[in-house]
This record gives sequence, structure tokens and C-alpha cells, in this order.
Amino acid sequence: MVGAGGGPRVLLRHLREVMAKAESSQSRLDQVTHLIAQNMVAEVCSIYLIQPGDELELSATEGLKPSAVHKTRLKVGTGLVGDIAVHARPLNLFDAQAHPNYAYRPETGEEVYKSLMGVPILRSGRVVGVLVVQNRTMRHYSDEEIETLETIAMVVAELAAAADMIDFDESAKGGEGEVQPHYIEGVVLSDGVALGHAVLHEPRVHVTRLIAEDDDVEAERLEKAVYELRSSIDRMLSTSDLSHAGEHREVLQAYRMFANDRGWLKRMLEAIKTGLTAEAAVERVQNETHARMMRQTDPYLRDQLHDLDDLANRLLRHLTGVELSSASGDLPDDAIIIARNMGPADLLDYDKDRLRGLVLEEGSANAHVAIVARALGIAAVGRAQGVLERIEDGEAVIVDGDTGELYLRPSQDIVEAYSEKARFRARRQAQYKAIRHDPAVTLDGVRVELNINAGLMVDLPHLPESGADGIGLFRTELQFMIASKLPSLTDQIELYSDVLAAAESKPVVFRTLDIGGDKVLPYMQQSEEENPALGWRAIRIALDRPALLRHQLRALLTAGKNQDLRLMFPMVAEVAEYEQARALVDKELARLEKFGRPRPRSVVVGTMLEVPALFWQFETLLPKVDFISIGSNDLMQFLYASDRGNPRVADRYGLFSPGALTFLRQVVIACKKHDVPLSLCGEMAGNPLEAMALLGLGLRQISMSPAAIGPVKMMVRSLDVGHLAGFMEKLYSRADASVHDELRAYADGQGIAI
Ligand code: PEP
Ligand code: MG
Repeated sequence: MVGAGGGPRVLLRHLREVMAKAESSQSRLDQVTHLIAQNMVAEVCSIYLIQPGDELELSATEGLKPSAVHKTRLKVGTGLVGDIAVHARPLNLFDAQAHPNYAYRPETGEEVYKSLMGVPILRSGRVVGVLVVQNRTMRHYSDEEIETLETIAMVVAELAAAADMIDFDESAKGGEGEVQPHYIEGVVLSDGVALGHAVLHEPRVHVTRLIAEDDDVEAERLEKAVYELRSSIDRMLSTSDLSHAGEHREVLQAYRMFANDRGWLKRMLEAIKTGLTAEAAVERVQNETHARMMRQTDPYLRDQLHDLDDLANRLLRHLTGVELSSASGDLPDDAIIIARNMGPADLLDYDKDRLRGLVLEEGSANAHVAIVARALGIAAVGRAQGVLERIEDGEAVIVDGDTGELYLRPSQDIVEAYSEKARFRARRQAQYKAIRHDPAVTLDGVRVELNINAGLMVDLPHLPESGADGIGLFRTELQFMIASKLPSLTDQIELYSDVLAAAESKPVVFRTLDIGGDKVLPYMQQSEEENPALGWRAIRIALDRPALLRHQLRALLTAGKNQDLRLMFPMVAEVAEYEQARALVDKELARLEKFGRPRPRSVVVGTMLEVPALFWQFETLLPKVDFISIGSNDLMQFLYASDRGNPRVADRYGLFSPGALTFLRQVVIACKKHDVPLSLCGEMAGNPLEAMALLGLGLRQISMSPAAIGPVKMMVRSLDVGHLAGFMEKLYSRADASVHDELRAYADGQGIAI
């Protein structure tokens, strides 16, 4: 039931009149509670506002005892009011006293009121208070009434903010007076060390004009802004700039899909009909999205809601003409972006030459923005609790992406220690750059092929920068992981063509989709698995759903026209799986033939060795494959039954365990016997000491993260691999848990650059 007062429109009109009158802020708030109570036919209407110490103070009321105003306080999280604030979502209770969180406050005299409806008062995405109505009877409030109250809460937020009645706990904030250093421990999102200055990423535009004069005008303004938003996304999509290619395009395509979503526009137009301005309507719908996002535990759905939140901000910028100043304007040349969270496109909007680091209050290593940060090579730390409250724009920050640590306003000795670390890194980088064009040849004349692992278009510049020989592993699933819908055939062809073009004539090994396990696609339904790493993943999905693989192969073969194409399959456990997958390649080649389409100049097809069982089928397998690539990350976890993602066991076994060394040695011998090229593309290839051991046991092709090419090449160029191979002979049969120390001592003794 909507109150006799006539719903939000009339109420908003009356509120505007209240706001226009020159009166004290308290008297305005009092009138607001009176108006709401009257309009919604409630006996009580109360406004609680946030105060230092995370407390909600009863700031105005109609119906409760006036003596309780500015006296009654509830901690965020306690009582029904505190519950609404902590979860940032409404409560609608016809019997409030039966709720487990009901907390009786005798000074208010509220015990006679049975039903309660309350909504959070949100401002710029933050809970600044709670607005409540109560009735004596057990009343069922309608959804429409909740929506009305939410709309009114926006106006109350502005009123209270304008009157300076909202007061966050500022003791923690590094405001003008605060010069204290502060240390925060977060989680690693992207490696590296960055010293720089904070740039607060402020995507939320602040809306101050809330109540409309004429809704037709507002509807027109909204439609015009949506049109402009769509056109600007289309323009960005059609630009030929490489930075907008690949994954950025995926993100923009997702934005375009959301921007064209009729439901979104409809919800905003409905909000305008309640009497709000266009920007207030956008914010109203955005608040809902934001609240849903906060409740969402599935990180991938959260990412999607985040993209929508981000899009709403872009729309607000179109409506208000407020530019995202920091992204476009005067960015310091050592910018460390600080944000609650952000979409990948937001990060790509910044001038990447000036970006040094990224700090997120939320964010996880799998979030799209973290993938992009890694690809851009900037240090990034996530889950940095409270960072936004503790830092001001322009203050000094150190981001240690190797440990997940953050130093705000660091002390001189910390700055010195990190400057030394950064200088050391820079010196090393200069040395690596100097040998960039030199071949990776050992002292005894053995040429080693050093490749990079990649997966996004932003990785491609690393190929010439690092001086690598090619891309030893292109993880095609990343395009699928950062998209919000299954990439179309055209999308895939576009990315693979761009990759081949950017690689120029250097070889690229495309690995077909390796999804499942921890690599989840937001738009694909996933069933709960007890052991996802051992579950339905990679080639298993591909063979059970061959259409997906056929599509991908079609895209790869099309993109590779008149070029040399290299393909491999992940997680193959038996020859039959390899044969089935390879048969699909042949089918797709035949299809090209049938339609008279150009084929690649050559197609070589290999498989990864990640499941140990495959090794015992090598005699059958090797004559059928063009190459083998060892995926040592997975291989090690399966060889030692040791979860690669579990920090308690992840480092327990490794390449230096004699069992692993012996196994790999036998793989090398078998491939040599069958004259099958062998490479390795796990993380270990990027560690100079491990890379040395791999060369010692006979590998000649390894693929690693781009930053590792320099250090590994230095090692190669200072190594006598023949001598090392002889030294290692006696290590295979050792009973030690690890031969790390022997190899380290050998390297030191021989002057090998590790
Ligand atoms: C591996 O398992 O070693 C590998 C390269 O694949 P990913 O890390 O993508 O599973
Ligand atoms: Mg793997």
C-alpha cells in the first residue's frame, strides 16, 4: 500500500520545498521525518546518521521520544538499524521484535511499534546512515514502499551531507594533519616494487541535483547521455590503436552489451518517473547494483556487476560533464592508483607510461584488473583494508608487489631501503637490456631457445622488449576469462590475427582452451567439484564439448592463413585424447579446403605433458606428435600429489627433488630418441637456478614470464652446460629431499650468474 500522501513524486516535491527554505539543518531533518511519516502513513520515521566510532546516531525522529535525539547511538552491526548499515541493504519486517538482531532501546519508547522498514542512506557508494519507518500494527510494507524510501534516502543523504551532519571516523584518516607513516598488509596481485605518489581513482561521480523539475526533460537528458555513451564505446571499439585491441576490446564489448541492455535503461527511466533527475536515477539504479555486488560472493559475478557499476559512472560523467580527471589529466609520472576496486578498462584508461603501481581495497588475484596489471608489468596489491580512508591524493606510497605490503607516507629509512631495491632492479634491467639482442648461447656454444608466456594483447610488446625468441605458451583462455560472454568466432580470429601480426615472424605456440579448475568462465555454468584440479577441465571439457574446441581451432586456422601455426593441447592424459583432439584439427583443415579458404602454410600440433601417466605412453605417443611441452606447474603437483595453490605444500617438492630431476631426465631422453622437440613452460623456467638445472638435464627450449628472460639469459651466457650435465649425473640417485644446495654451490663455484 502506498501512503495516503501520494508516493515518491509528491513527497519529493514537498522535500524540495523543505530544502529551499532557509532554516537550520536540524529543523529541515525534523520536517523530513514528519513528511515521510505522513506520506507513508507510519507512526514513526527516524533518521540515523554515521558518527565517529562507527556509530549510528538518532539524528531526527517523528514518533520516537524527542529526548532520545542525539542521544541514542547504535554501533554499526548491532540492532536492526546497525544490521541495515552493515549489510547496506533494506529490512522489511512485519514483526520487528521477532528478528534476532532486534535491540530494545528503552529511551526511545519504541517497544510499542511492531513493524519496521528501513533502508541504508548511501552517498557515493558508502553507507552514511539509515532511514527507518515503524508502525504499531504488524504491517506488511510493499516493495514499492521500500523503493520510495530508498529514493527519499538519497535526498536525506544530500541534506545531511550539506549540513555537515555526517561524520566518519576520521581518526584513521591521513588528512592534512596526519604525517604518520602507515603500514598495510594485503595480498599480491602483481609482482614488482613501486615507489610513487597516490592517485585516488574516483570513478564515482558525486550527484547533488536530485529532484527533477520536469521528468520529460530528465528522460530526454538520460536518453541522450545513454546514446552518447554507446557512441563513445563504439568509437573506442573502432579505433585502430593497439592498446584497444585484444582484451580491452573484450571489456568494451561487454560494456556495449550492458549499455544496450533495455532493462537497465528501463529501470533508470522508471526512477525518473518517481521524480528524480537523470543523474539521480542513474545513481539510484547504481546503488542497487552496488549493493548486489557487495552481497555477491561469486567473484566472477562480482566482476560483472563491477563492470556495470563502472559503466554507470561513465554514464554519470556524460550527464554531469565531469571528466575522470586523474586518468586523462595531470597524472604524476610515478602514479600509484588507489581504488576500492576497478574494472580492467579503467586501468587501461591511464597512461601506462606513468603507471607504477595499483592498490585495491578489494580485488583478488583472479580479478580481471589484476590480470591486466600483471600484463602491464606494474606492481599491484589487493585487499588493502582501509587504504582509502588513510591516504590523500599526492601522498607518497610504496607498493611491494612481491610481498603484498604497502607503506603509506613511508619513513625515510623505508624509502631508502626500497630506493636501493628499486635502483638495484633498474641496474639489473639495464644489464638485461644491454644483452637483449645477444643470442642465448652457453660458454660451450650451445644455443638455448628462450620464449615468453603470454595470454593477452598487452603482453605482446614484451616480445621485442625482452629479446625473447618467441611465445612458448599463449594461454588462450585469458581472452575467455576476461570477457563477459563467450568470445565469438570473429573475436577469436581477431585476437589470434593480432597476436600473430604483433609477433611478426617469431613463433607463437597457441594452447587451446585450458578452462576448469581455478580458471572459471563467468558465463559458463560450473558444477561444484570436490577436487577441481583433478576434475573436468582443459582437454576433458574440450572433448566432451567438441563444438567449443572446433570453434577455437577454426579461429586459429583462419587467423594463421599463409603462416606457420603451432598448436598444443593442455592436460592430455592419454594418447587417445590427443588423437581425438588432433582429428578435430584435421576436420577443420578439411573444412577450410572444402570452402576454398586459405590454410596456414604449416600446422604443427603438440601436447603438453602435465599428467604423469602420459609419459608411460610416450613410445606410442611420440611418433604421433610434432612436439611436447612440459607444463611443470601442473606436472609437479600431480607427480608429487601436492597442490600448487596450497602454500603449506606448494614448495615442499620441486625440481630439486631427485625424483623430479630423474623423471624429467627420462622425458628428455625419450624425446631425443624419437627426435621430438621438447620444451618446458612452467614457472620454474623463469628461475635462473632451476632453469640452469633444466638445461643441465638436457632441455634446450624453455618458456617463462617476460621479466625472467633477462636473468635467465645472463645465466645461460655464463654457463658451461656440458660440464654441468656431467656434474648432475651424480645427483639423480641421491637420497636427499632436495639437491638445491649442491646446485647453488656449483653455480657459485663456477661463477654462473644466478
Ligand atoms: C603448467 O601447468 O605448467 C602450465 C604452463 O599451465 P598453467 O600454468 O596455465 O596451468
Ligand atoms: Mg597447466
